[in-house]
Amino acid sequence: MTEMLNCQKVSFLLSQSLDTPLPWIMRARLGLHLLMCRRCAAFRRQILVLTSVVRGAAAALAVDPGHDTAALSPAARARIKELLASQGAA
Ligand SMILES: [Zn+2]
Repeated sequence: MTEMLNCQKVSFLLSQSLDTPLPWIMRARLGLHLLMCRRCAAFRRQILVLTSVVRGAAAALAVDPGHDTAALSPAARARIKELLASQGAA
């Protein structure tokens, strides 16, 4: 039996999974941890929102090189504000 992942390892794997698909056994272990750990589940939601915002800005820049990426779209601002409020951080 493999040992339980700790939160530090989970945060590393979540970040890594944004760039590289994880092996199924690691995804399973990660999923098990996320079912039991609210903090890591919240971290996962946060990095997914941030990734989506960054990718949206990159896409906007690709379409319109003059696009002001320093300014978030109102929809992106609302998503971030809502997420932070749900985490008790705002
Ligand atoms: Zn955790």
